Amino acid sequence: MTKAQKTLFEAALARAKEQGVLIAGEGVTNPGNAAGAPQYPFWTVSSSQDRDKYYMVTRRGEHLTCTCKAGQEGVYCKHRALVTNYLIVTARRMEATERAIAAEQEAQDAADAQAAYDERTYNEEAHTVDRAEPILWQNTNMTKWRGRH
Ligand SMILES: [Zn+2]
Repeated sequence: MTKAQKTLFEAALARAKEQGVLIAGEGVTNPGNAAGAPQYPFWTVSSSQDRDKYYMVTRRGEHLTCTCKAGQEGVYCKHRALVTNYLIVTARRMEATERAIAAEQEAQDAADAQAAYDERTYNEEAHTVDRAEPILWQNTNMTKWRGRH
C-alpha cells in the first residue's frame, strides 16, 4: 500500500468500525467449480444503512471489488477496508501460528535429542550393571555355597 492508499484504507476502516459494519460470511464464487468459470473468494459485508442488506467483496488476485454503490464507482469503500483488515489480521495470525509450530517442532526435536541421550546413557548404565551383576551374584552364592559346605 502506498501512503495515500493507507490513508484511504484507514479512513474507510474507521468508518466501517464507527458504523458497525460487519463481515457476515465468506465463500467462493462458482462453488460447484463449473468448467471454465473461475473461482474467487468473497465476503459478505453488512450495509451500514440497511441491516438486512449485504454487499459482496470479491478478491481477484490481489484486487478487491465491492458491489456497493461507492465501490462500483471506484471509491475505496468501508466494506473493502473491512475485508482488507480481515485479510491482514488473518495473515498475521497465520504467521504467528507458523512461528508457534516452528517453536514446537524445535522443542520436540530437543526433547527427542534428550530422550535419545537418556536412552543411550541408560543403556550404558544397564550394560555396566549387566556385566557386573553376574559376578556379584556368583561371588555371593559362592560365599554362601562355601559357607554351607
Ligand atoms: Zn463497498
